[in-house]
Amino acid sequence: MRKCRFCERPAIVRLRYANLPLCDEHFKKYYMGRIKKILDKHRIRGEILVAVSGGKDSMALLHALNEISKVEDSIGITAFHINLGIYDYSQKSEDVVKKFAKEIGVVLITYYLKKEIGHTIPEIARTSRRPPCAVCGIIKRWVFNKVAYENGFDYVATGHNIDDVSTILLKALLTQDIYTIIRAQSEFSPPKIDMKLVGRIRPQFYLSEMENRLYVELNNIPVIEEACPLSIGATTHKYRSIWDSILRMNPASQINLVRSILKLRSQMIVDEPQLVQCKKCGYPTESKAGICAFCRLMERVHRTGE
Ligand SMILES: [Zn+2]
Ligand SMILES: [Zn+2]
Repeated sequence: MRKCRFCERPAIVRLRYANLPLCDEHFKKYYMGRIKKILDKHRIRGEILVAVSGGKDSMALLHALNEISKVEDSIGITAFHINLGIYDYSQKSEDVVKKFAKEIGVVLITYYLKKEIGHTIPEIARTSRRPPCAVCGIIKRWVFNKVAYENGFDYVATGHNIDDVSTILLKALLTQDIYTIIRAQSEFSPPKIDMKLVGRIRPQFYLSEMENRLYVELNNIPVIEEACPLSIGATTHKYRSIWDSILRMNPASQINLVRSILKLRSQMIVDEPQLVQCKKCGYPTESKAGICAFCRLMERVHRTGE
């Protein structure tokens, strides 16, 4: 067994993209350092609403941000969970988040989709005849921003990892989905409070699913292991497996693809979409018709009936 780069103990992992063998303690330190670097780079201060689904990425994020907030007086965190109404899966997710938030002493806000907007994700997907993952994405984005804005938070933190981000961008390239490339988001989107838009941070943007999983295991963080039953068969899952062979050849390929696209995007001359307030809900949208994606989706649901 190799030795840890920073001490005499055996390495439990070698991060291939950095050629870095690490013991358990130094891996935890390294992981926290990566998260902290993103916060420092964008001078994140204030109250952060941490979106937690119960999966390994967001549970690792909640744990890491809580550790940071203990030593950084300028950062406060609150956990936020949406019960999406996806059968047993949502109940199990809510239970695991509740238990863990209590265990680490973090305040948790739970939002029940059925109670707040009258419909669950399966109901909305069925009546709108749109893919459940697309529906869920639109709804979560709107709810995160609304709840954070109404409760005076400065930022919403979400648990995207490099495997997710690179797969979305790879799929966009392979399908000529230029819209997704142009709109590619980095690890940080600044707040625009006059537009009722709260800032977004994605502190695990360049961390892999494997690193999040290892962090969860080393810290004994409970997580929901099963995948969302509605996501089975989603095309993103199929594209994801392409990475296995590319990563064997070049361990930094996911990070490099994302960095390349963000660099290209910053050089592109594109009309910055004008943000306007949605005529229905008052939250920001880039839509020329002035109705946000969430309100358009809900209109569609109400038109088609239950
Ligand atoms: Zn070590
Ligand atoms: Zn709206």
